[in-house]
Amino acid sequence: MKKIIYPGSVGYIINKLNEKGFEAFIVGGCVRDSVLGKDPHDWDITTSALPADIKETFGRTYDTGIKHGTVSVAVEDEIFEVTTYRVDGKYSDSRRPDNVSFTASLREDLARRDFTVNAMAYNYQTGLVDYFEGLQDIKNRQIKAVGNAGARFQEDALRMLRAIRFSAQLGFEIEKNTFDAISGNSGLIKNISRERIREEIDKLLTSQNPSCFNKLYHSGLLEHIMPEFVACYHTEQNNPYHIYNVAEHIIHTVESIPDSSILRWTMLLHDIGKPSSRTTDDQGIDHFYGHQEVSVRMADSILNNLRLDKLSIKKILTLVRYHDVDIFDTGKSIRKVLNKVGEDLFLSLLEVQRADAMGQNPVYLDKRLVKLDNIKRIYKEIKDKGQCLSLSDMAVNGDDLISLGMEPGRKVGEMLGYLFDRVLENPELNDKEKLIELAKQRIPFF
Ligand code: ATP
Ligand code: MG
Repeated sequence: MKKIIYPGSVGYIINKLNEKGFEAFIVGGCVRDSVLGKDPHDWDITTSALPADIKETFGRTYDTGIKHGTVSVAVEDEIFEVTTYRVDGKYSDSRRPDNVSFTASLREDLARRDFTVNAMAYNYQTGLVDYFEGLQDIKNRQIKAVGNAGARFQEDALRMLRAIRFSAQLGFEIEKNTFDAISGNSGLIKNISRERIREEIDKLLTSQNPSCFNKLYHSGLLEHIMPEFVACYHTEQNNPYHIYNVAEHIIHTVESIPDSSILRWTMLLHDIGKPSSRTTDDQGIDHFYGHQEVSVRMADSILNNLRLDKLSIKKILTLVRYHDVDIFDTGKSIRKVLNKVGEDLFLSLLEVQRADAMGQNPVYLDKRLVKLDNIKRIYKEIKDKGQCLSLSDMAVNGDDLISLGMEPGRKVGEMLGYLFDRVLENPELNDKEKLIELAKQRIPFF
């Protein structure tokens, strides 16, 4: 193994604790990521020093996680979590230890950690401390529980989702015994809060390997955390546009879209209404009429249940609703769709349609991608020209119509809608004189 280099400020913390006679190591995710040659996003430190000792050793500290023995230590403008070696007490709720106690043994501290790859410690003096063969499992590219997998999941059921999430983020398999223990204990996930479940699924979906979502299904977790989705795995699509069942199609589209949370959730849920919308015609061809609205309703309920924030839910639902809306490569069609989905989501919608195409019969793919490229080009022209895309961009308003003699009220709104449609068809009409002229011609019909 190559030497791990940690930042100077981390070295400073470790040295200061050593000078006072305490042990201190970097631990967990940062050791794992360093071994993998990735940049860790934070550096956690584990030490034999008690919280009071840690606080005494450093100038600026914060008691953020003091209950669990974690003291946040500020070095210049960075904060590091320094945690006392700890063993967890009994777990009576498959969620949190009833109490934690401190220990002088690094080995005990590492033994309470979830997976072997997360249970290594390191410092320059001692080198790698690896009691549970984490290094070997990194080489084997596998996620394996520390100790008895079943018992570890019974202590804390979130670990089952963490196993699948890490397998997605790292591109590792889950060791068989560990996976079987997830299958055997999947029902315990109901003890975990919906926010924490969502955070794990979010990390899984936005990872390099979102197809690990399938492991939720195969382990039995999915039926407890998103039962509505299970039917997608049993719904075939006998239709010339499709070569996959609904779940396979969905996962292909998730893999095909950029890794933003909004886009990944959109693809995950865009066709979730298909199983309940399926009909088969006399030719044996399957149709899914109206599945978009069913998907919107189901996505709304799933995302609220998982406590996603309201703004994200709104965006996702809009993208699900319009995921397969017809857009032609003409200015008129593009302006109409833009007006429906909103400017902020239009480019996202094109990503959604591209990803959707990638998950369908490849025979039609090239044509659809060329069309989507054309649409994007025309959209850019529309933006560059600053064409009118919403009622508020129109060169006339309600007051102008009232000055023409229209009664304030519903009719004014209808007239504005009519003029707006005309402008979407032909942007050159967005001129005060021309619109007044159009309105005058139209007034007798209102
Ligand atoms: P990342 O931060 O990249 O998601 P990480 O491995 O740092 O990954 P954290 O959730 O930050 O994960 O936890 C830090 C360390 O604490 C883990 O590496 C692991 O050793 C331990 N740990 C975290 N959560 C649990 C848990 N539920 N059960 C057992 N050990 C855990
Ligand atoms: Mg971490």
